[in-house]
Amino acid sequence: SEFRLADLEKIRVLGHGNGGTVYKVRHRRTSAVYALKAVHTDAGDVSLRRQVYREIDILRRATGSDHVVGFHAVLPTPSGDVALLLEHMEGGSLDTLLRRRGRSPFPEIALASVARQALLGLAELHSRQIVHRDIKPANLLINAAGVVKIADFGVGKVLRRSLDPCDSYVGTCAYMSPERFDPESHGGDYDPYAADVWSLGLAVLELHRGHFPLLPEGARPDWAALMVAICLGEALGAVPEGEASGEFRGFIECCLQKESGKRWSVAELLGHPFIASADWSESERALRELLRENSDES
Ligand code: ATP
Ligand code: MG
Repeated sequence: SEFRLADLEKIRVLGHGNGGTVYKVRHRRTSAVYALKAVHTDAGDVSLRRQVYREIDILRRATGSDHVVGFHAVLPTPSGDVALLLEHMEGGSLDTLLRRRGRSPFPEIALASVARQALLGLAELHSRQIVHRDIKPANLLINAAGVVKIADFGVGKVLRRSLDPCDSYVGTCAYMSPERFDPESHGGDYDPYAADVWSLGLAVLELHRGHFPLLPEGARPDWAALMVAICLGEALGAVPEGEASGEFRGFIECCLQKESGKRWSVAELLGHPFIASADWSESERALRELLRENSDES
């Protein structure tokens, strides 16, 4: 490819995840800035290798979408690992942005833009038969212009024939929908795309509340507490009246339907009054304003 690792100069660490470390890098000759995600692929660990190659496969299929993070190259590293060269998203993740604001909630008007852009990203992925399966604030990135893009395909999946109901996914489970958390009690036969809608609803609600909405503030998520909250909890999406507009409460309720069949689809949600009746230029301006107030200058 046109890129070599030796041509890239590390500037700083952008973030850490389960998969590895993400660096901000500069191309020595062109001065262009990128994000470089170094992924440890312990040579002996076949499943880890397979996961990395799945991420690369998905990035290749998804790239070029307006609301999916751009992908430039896969670069082999001297240690035998691989590094993914990605579009640099200057504003970082919405999770970091929330923490930078001291967990002060995002205003609804800015959330209308976040939700709309993330839904457009999901629509692009779903139209290419890609389920993300790990939508959460840490995997929604924002650039300096206030454009929100979906990132991190470490656990995404390209649907080929049917969805394997015994799929042993062990990533973050806090944002998992009831039918994925406990497949047995949901017949194992459900629409896989609906799981992304659940996670998006939860992510938007977290940005509105300032903390993960299914557990008491500050509680560490453990399997049992999540099981109770996700699978047994009543009216999860019920935002108390007075805490939000009717449109916002309605939107969250449509995303957080426990029965996946009752959950709204991405296309339906794009037409929901919370999104469709929002003043787009006003909500995008509000999001850029929030970004400016909380930028970290580096
Ligand atoms: P996890 O599986 O724990 O979510 P991960 O190891 O798969 O994480 P990513 O989610 O891709 O890795 O990246 C980890 C963090 O690095 C992100 O939450 C974000 O803060 C930062 N980051 C990742 N990609 C970019 C990018 N293109 N531009 C700017 N920051 C990024
Ligand atoms: Mg991530």
